[in-house]
Amino acid sequence: MSVLDRIEFADIEGIRVGRFTSQINTTCILYRLGGTVIDTGPPNQWRFVRRFLEEKEVQRVLVTHHHEDHSGNLAPIDRTLKTPVLSPREAIEPLSKGYEVQFYRRLIWGRPLVVETAPVPDRMELAGGLSLATIPTPGHSPDSTCYLEPDRGWLFTGDLYIAARTRYLRQDEDLGEHIASLRRVLELDFDTLLCSHRGVIAAGREALTRKLDYLVSLRGEVHRLHAQGKSVTEITRELLGGEGHLSLFTRFHFAKRNLIAACLDLPDTSTED
Ligand SMILES: [Zn+2]
Repeated sequence: MSVLDRIEFADIEGIRVGRFTSQINTTCILYRLGGTVIDTGPPNQWRFVRRFLEEKEVQRVLVTHHHEDHSGNLAPIDRTLKTPVLSPREAIEPLSKGYEVQFYRRLIWGRPLVVETAPVPDRMELAGGLSLATIPTPGHSPDSTCYLEPDRGWLFTGDLYIAARTRYLRQDEDLGEHIASLRRVLELDFDTLLCSHRGVIAAGREALTRKLDYLVSLRGEVHRLHAQGKSVTEITRELLGGEGHLSLFTRFHFAKRNLIAACLDLPDTSTED
């Protein structure tokens, strides 16, 4: 494949890359602003990522979390381009020691190499008078992190958003933490989301609010149906539809029933909030 899309928004540039182009979650975007690059694309797209990075001087490369579609080119960037590579503190260990990458992920993204990263500071001054604040947003993964440009109201969300009405969940996601992170982020001052899969979302606050509302209401629905004696499989079919080939292809690592089971693991809405 090649560069699938070129993103230009105010002082931000980006490219979308990916081997399979049929869905937004099989492609990933990296962004560049003020001499800093956020996320690196998957390992099997290195030649296109390299070309993008070599267009302009890059002072540092940082990632939103360790998943290979975001961090997969840190190793070649470190070794070939000698650019400083940074990651959230919790990502340092999986990136330097390696982590499990299931077959379907290797097929879509390729196999990442290990790399030593430095921790991202709480705040970074960028070229052109821009800055970034580091906002931990665990849930999707323990190390998931957003970056906020406070004066412009730009929030780089990694995989915090992706879609308002998500129907699938990875087995290793923590839905309770994810909901708490959405709530915390909504207290910040921002307008625009820079999502790693969806791209630029102008009404970012509304989008994140819709996602939070959807997950909270889904949680309530799941508990209501469970109280009627319905199983996870029955609730999944009723609320999200049949599993389909994506769940089978990933051996249920990425499946609808994971989202239902995760809702069930959380306290009922009527007993919280
Ligand atoms: Zn991810």
